[in-house]
Amino acid sequence: MSSRPQAHDYLETLACSACDREHDPRQIHTVCRECGHSLLARYDLRRVARAITPDEVTRRSRGIWRFRELLPPLAAGGGPDLGAGDTPLLPLRRLGERLGMPHLWLKDEGANPTGTFKARGAAVGVAAAAALGVRELAIPTAGNAGSAWAAYSAAAGLPIHVVMPVDTPPPIKAECVAYGADVTEVDGLISDAARIVNERAARSGWFDASTMREPFRVEGKKTMGLEIAEAFDWKPPDAVLYPTGGGVGLIGIWKAMRELDEMGWLDGPPPRLIAVQAAGCASIVDAWEAGAATAERVADAHTVAPGLRVPLPFAHALVLRAIRETGGTAVAVSDDELMAAMSELAESEGVFACPEGAALLPALRRLLDRGDLTREETVVLLNTGNALKYTDLMHATGGSAA
Ligand SMILES: *Cc1c(COP(=O)(O)O)cnc(C)c1O
Ligand SMILES: [Zn+2]
Repeated sequence: MSSRPQAHDYLETLACSACDREHDPRQIHTVCRECGHSLLARYDLRRVARAITPDEVTRRSRGIWRFRELLPPLAAGGGPDLGAGDTPLLPLRRLGERLGMPHLWLKDEGANPTGTFKARGAAVGVAAAAALGVRELAIPTAGNAGSAWAAYSAAAGLPIHVVMPVDTPPPIKAECVAYGADVTEVDGLISDAARIVNERAARSGWFDASTMREPFRVEGKKTMGLEIAEAFDWKPPDAVLYPTGGGVGLIGIWKAMRELDEMGWLDGPPPRLIAVQAAGCASIVDAWEAGAATAERVADAHTVAPGLRVPLPFAHALVLRAIRETGGTAVAVSDDELMAAMSELAESEGVFACPEGAALLPALRRLLDRGDLTREETVVLLNTGNALKYTDLMHATGGSAA
């Protein structure tokens, strides 16, 4: 709370994404104290643009903190660094040929610590929490956020409570336990876990780090957008496909592009952001197709892909806004399609993508059929994680059928 602002402290305020009310970024906050919606960090972008150049950022040593002027300031000594970020951007040559797409790419977030992009959010979220004097963390999760936050909390020396559905893949639970987290399993979904964390946090003084109810996790995920823009020499690709659960990554990429645009670093419009969901849990797709600005909770939400099993993203209005503002769209695919795509991606490209990431491939085919994408466009599939944690799932569902 009294952490001294550092030289690279360009963070001005936390502004409510709904009512714009400002909150002091040097105090601990969850959601807007006025209306309860998500807070978003706002930086003095003019000052950042004067302080650094794109080339300077590119020359720095690897990792998310290369972009530190666009991230919350760290506590003295810095946050734990397990090596998140700067994941490979792979050309999908064989699949691209199959689909007639010469400019098809996959950003492979499986290369992150704990095997998913959740490490980016955890790296920044835990560092910010530690800097603000948080003593004890709690997080509801479909799995991967739990293991990422448990790893970074361990490295920061902070206790953490992780609440997850009983049917979370066993390797993810094993990771959380190994990192020393206090793990609670609930007979339900991430929304039920969130309710438990919310109640217990109020009683026990835990800091509730739920998706979009904590302002800095999205800042970490924003680095995916910064890296994508940089990788294309600041001329953004035409579209980014993103497997959407809580939607933090999608909001993060949108926010990254807005900030870079405002700094004058972008040579061309931000990419169209395309939310991909599982057919059994498609609140954003349903809302998008209905032309609505807000989404409704899915009753009986079901999909084999744990990261997509979110009945209603907390920041649903923000997800829809990011899609709308970038001229994107939303599309749902079946569990059979996404499981088959795991094999197709592995066999054709040597990428063992998690079921969430694999969902992007059938979505891509649908978007081409619908004319929402053309074959000449530059398209990035954002594979959110490695499949190794999910091999039980593949056996259980006979996912080898291609
Ligand atoms: C959490 C998760 C998602 C969904 O991410 P959001 O940013 O919450 O939409 C997708 N894939 C994997 C592997 C995840 O762990
Ligand atoms: Zn508000």
